[in-house]
Amino acid sequence: MDNNSKTAQPGGAWTRLELWKKILIGMILGVIVGTVMGPSAEILKPIGTLFINAIKMLIVPLVFFSLIVGITSMQDPKKMGRIGLKAIALYLGTTAVAISIGLGMAAIFTPGAGLNMVAASSDIAAQEAPPLIQTLLNMIPKNPVGALATGNILQIIVFAIGLGVSLALIGEKAEPAIKLFESLAEAMYKLTELVMKLAPYGVFGLMAWVAGKYGLEVLLPLIKVVAVVFLGAVIHIVVFYSGLISFIGRLNPVRYLKALTNPAAVAFTTTSSSGTLPATIKAAREELGVSKGVSSFVLPLGATINMDGTALYQGVCALFIAQAFGIDLAASDYITIILTATLASVGTAGVPGAGLIMLSLVLTTVGLPIEGLAIIAGIDRILDMARTTVNICGDMMVSVLVAKSEGELNKDIYDQQTSTADTTTVNIEAAKA
Ligand code: ASP
Repeated sequence: MDNNSKTAQPGGAWTRLELWKKILIGMILGVIVGTVMGPSAEILKPIGTLFINAIKMLIVPLVFFSLIVGITSMQDPKKMGRIGLKAIALYLGTTAVAISIGLGMAAIFTPGAGLNMVAASSDIAAQEAPPLIQTLLNMIPKNPVGALATGNILQIIVFAIGLGVSLALIGEKAEPAIKLFESLAEAMYKLTELVMKLAPYGVFGLMAWVAGKYGLEVLLPLIKVVAVVFLGAVIHIVVFYSGLISFIGRLNPVRYLKALTNPAAVAFTTTSSSGTLPATIKAAREELGVSKGVSSFVLPLGATINMDGTALYQGVCALFIAQAFGIDLAASDYITIILTATLASVGTAGVPGAGLIMLSLVLTTVGLPIEGLAIIAGIDRILDMARTTVNICGDMMVSVLVAKSEGELNKDIYDQQTSTADTTTVNIEAAKA
């Protein structure tokens, strides 16, 4: 009966196709349909909105439950604290490097030169960024239920960490709650998988709308920005991350790069680190040998606070807008950009388009015209693909380094995935032992 139903099933080949391939097909078809339909492709946008809303629905419970489970599965609270500190230090350090790469690339390639745009001068008013101490104080939720209800991710993380650590500290009494959170976390992974099944259609609707609204030729003058962001992204992953993997982790970077393939394809096409989380966790565990405890704590944290790609993009865009409007930036402006973009990227949710909203914060802080946003908005989806990919590759890199330093990396799994020769060696060694 099984065989019959397989052959008789309409669209069987489509059903069997891997998700990322379906998403890619959805994207290409979307561009074609949008280009043919023009502005009337707007009618397809709701399919995309449906998908985006469904992703947003997942974020709060996914982060909350998986963080708690990540912490309680760690067992040793001291170790957890150490892992958390290591991860956060790596996350922030690599983010600052990312913005510097973005600024450097934009300074070299000057994508905005010669655009001669004029800003409505009244709009250019430097706004004070909230003082650092305020930003830190705001991370603590006075009302955790309020934080959950409004989706304040940083506050949710702080509360989840507190609750997770407390559960770990109370021993036996925590068991029923831990079981409940574990089963809810599992359910959220399942729900994510189900929502991701909508991705090909959502991406189709969104791409049709973008291509129809802006037309392909509008994208041409901005190709330089796209090229600079993509080149920066590749350098950051292939040179910087791989370099850290080999020099700090003393591991073969090729294996790391290979394991990125699946999650990177999901990130590139969905432009959501949160939505990619299940794929990231799976690859980190099964292909890189990162332990359950480290992966389920470090990766959700990274998907929420580590946004190297977003930071790199903010560096490029800020400089592009300054160049386009003929505004000279002082050395202190560069430092301000690095600091605000680091903080802004921490506060960026891992959902499509969040980086664009945070870019407005960076622009106003250094007094750049906010109109610049409108130019970027047209191509933001394309830029989002590159930055989300960098974001999740950074999370995976940090999970490997932290796991390695804590003795939580299964070297056999890490080593096995490239060539059969390596697998044979491992097997021979295993046989000898
Ligand atoms: N889409 C990005 C992410 O999910 C965030 C951003 O818009 O920069 O990682």
